[in-house]
Amino acid sequence: MYEHKEFPKVFIINHPLVQHKLSMMRMKECIQQDFKSALHEISLLMGYELTRWLPLGEQTIETPIQKMNAPVIEGKRPAIVPILRAGLGMSEGLQALMPSSPVGHIGLYRDHETHKPVEYLVKLPDVKDRHFILVDPMLATGNSAAYAVDVLVKNGVDKDNISFMALLGAPEGITTFRQQYPDLPIYIAALDEKLDDNAYIIPGLGDAGDRLFGTAA
Ligand code: URA
Repeated sequence: MYEHKEFPKVFIINHPLVQHKLSMMRMKECIQQDFKSALHEISLLMGYELTRWLPLGEQTIETPIQKMNAPVIEGKRPAIVPILRAGLGMSEGLQALMPSSPVGHIGLYRDHETHKPVEYLVKLPDVKDRHFILVDPMLATGNSAAYAVDVLVKNGVDKDNISFMALLGAPEGITTFRQQYPDLPIYIAALDEKLDDNAYIIPGLGDAGDRLFGTAA
């Protein structure tokens, strides 16, 4: 994992397994089932890197041989919050890694006229002293990402307690997001070239939600 030189606090997960699986997902021949499994596996691997900072305390336990002070994660379990619908594919990988984490949901759609995100579902666990990991595979325009962070903050989450995890990012989206949230850590597997006229990431992988749920026309 390294921090991007031009975009501070954007961390690229360059682990070979993540990069290889991402390339498989980008291929247009990658079928739904393989796309879903790879997204699950990548999210788990990215989650491993993203959770390095989790604070450890000690608990006295008894092994079959003797007592010891063993390291255990301290504090509340981080919450996993997918942005619907493509975020669901990433949240499952994180849940496999942290099965006792609560899972919130933020549902957003894009208004056809204003092109702005509109929320249709917000369901969050208790926010006090809890870290929130927002997930959405594509950080494209950055509008829904920033909106989802707004939703968390409006609901009482401290913005220093939020991380954003995506599979791919576009420079335009990161720039937009950064105007609102300059310090919020972003974890991505790759920073792609740019957006096309329809706000798709280039070279990207197409529509992540459609490929995940098999809804492409
Ligand atoms: N959302 C997607 O699913 N794909 C893109 O390329 C951009 C946004």
